[in-house]
Amino acid sequence: MSFTVAIIGRPNVGKSTLFNRLVGRKLALVDDTPGVTRDRRVHPARLYDLEFDVIDTAGFEDADAASLAGRMRAQTETAMDEADLILFVVDARAGVVPDDRTFSDIARRTSKPIVLVANKAESRSSQGGMLEAWELGLGEPIPISAEHGEGMVDLREAIVEALGAERVFAAEEEDEAVSLAVAEPLVGEDIADPDSEVIPEYDATKPLRIAMVGRPNAGKSTLINAFLGEERLLTGPEAGITRDSISVDWDWRGRRIKLFDTAGMRRKSRVQEKLEKLSVADGLRAIRFAEVVVIVLDATIPFEKQDLQIADLIIREGRAPVIAFNKWDLIDNRQELLAELREKTQRLLPQVRGIQAVTISAETGKGLDKLMEAIEKTHRVWNRRVSTGKLNRWLEGVLTHHPPPAVAGRRLKIKYITQVKTRPPGFVLSCSRPDAMPQSYIRYLTNGLRDTFEMPGVPIRMALRAPD
Ligand code: GDP
Ligand code: GDP
Repeated sequence: MSFTVAIIGRPNVGKSTLFNRLVGRKLALVDDTPGVTRDRRVHPARLYDLEFDVIDTAGFEDADAASLAGRMRAQTETAMDEADLILFVVDARAGVVPDDRTFSDIARRTSKPIVLVANKAESRSSQGGMLEAWELGLGEPIPISAEHGEGMVDLREAIVEALGAERVFAAEEEDEAVSLAVAEPLVGEDIADPDSEVIPEYDATKPLRIAMVGRPNAGKSTLINAFLGEERLLTGPEAGITRDSISVDWDWRGRRIKLFDTAGMRRKSRVQEKLEKLSVADGLRAIRFAEVVVIVLDATIPFEKQDLQIADLIIREGRAPVIAFNKWDLIDNRQELLAELREKTQRLLPQVRGIQAVTISAETGKGLDKLMEAIEKTHRVWNRRVSTGKLNRWLEGVLTHHPPPAVAGRRLKIKYITQVKTRPPGFVLSCSRPDAMPQSYIRYLTNGLRDTFEMPGVPIRMALRAPD
């Protein structure tokens, strides 16, 4: 189950710009040919990990003036009918104008959740408009800049909150399952021998690929330096790696490591010059390069939104995450903070329950051994494969004690489970009516797998398939 979003508001507030950003295109498709099918008005969109449909309401402002008000009203009402969630957009720079009130009066009649979006909020002059937006009685305005892509994490959070996490993430997990089934056929993956007990394909002689990611100033460059020593940074770029990125090879206690580094990090670390922030694209490249991604957090200001956004990205890309709470030397109340960080880590990142997290000081070099151990451990889990025999003996027990619920009076049947891939572990569950299986039960099975077969801290993929 996915959800549908309608973007409404008076002309010129930036609806099409937001639409394009969510749908990922330069221009909204404006098609006023009569008889355009309904489907063409709904476009798949993505906001970080959220996947949904957006109703395209672009173009209707062009109607001639006489019928404008009527058409806009009709369009808005139709879009609201079709949607599960309404993004009501105002222009924070212009403040609230009478047309906004006309639209908000229409919007308020729906019982559907509404997120109030204050667009064009990239400049300070939008503060007044932000305050005025409260007057619309549609709740807290979320400041964004559709044009510059700012505030998108807050928008994501507001959507999750308005719709309810259950609804939103049910949609997400299903999409993941589909991508496992469709986009990743078993090419290059060995299927476990049904009767073998343990299949340790782990090859510790291959270099382990690592990337350090995190907000600017979290201490990534300092950490890389601490690991490598200044002179090693001069290692040249390698063939096959993109031009502006570089990988550095080194050994850690006999283990070969390939570290993703960006030109920016090296320059900065060497001459402490102020450089522009690494772009999201740089971060994504680092994540895709790596097997294990170390999320470097500044322990004095941990779990800012951007940190969670990075963690989301790593999990979505199926990489093995490890958290390094850096600058631990600056912390006085260590026990207290540690307890708080543990609690927050579990609560904020339930998709990777049991994630390895270590405290370090890149500056003093404390905790680097521990961090490397955590990296290796997570890497092994990420590579883990469980034999089909073991999986199905486990499944049998689960089905006896906690069988799947009945849906519409019919019992859902699960036939067998098999692991179809590693890096991260991916499983296929063969069951009757995969689309009827409740997400809560799938989550229950995933958690059970995680605990029983010791796969803490890595993303686990679960796809459901009807028997052939
Ligand atoms: P719509 O009529 O509501 O669909 O609005 P558009 O998306 O066509 O935007 C109206 C105008 O506002 C265009 O000139 C956009 O470039 C501009 N605009 C949209 N979003 C922003 C923003 O975040 N900041 C600024 N400064 N301008 C924006
Ligand atoms: P980056 O932007 O993530 O690469 O961060 P940098 O490595 O440039 O570090 C940002 C600032 O934090 C610098 O002033 C570092 O000296 C400082 N820093 C990094 N690691 C530590 C640490 O473990 N302890 C302390 N006290 N400062 C640190």
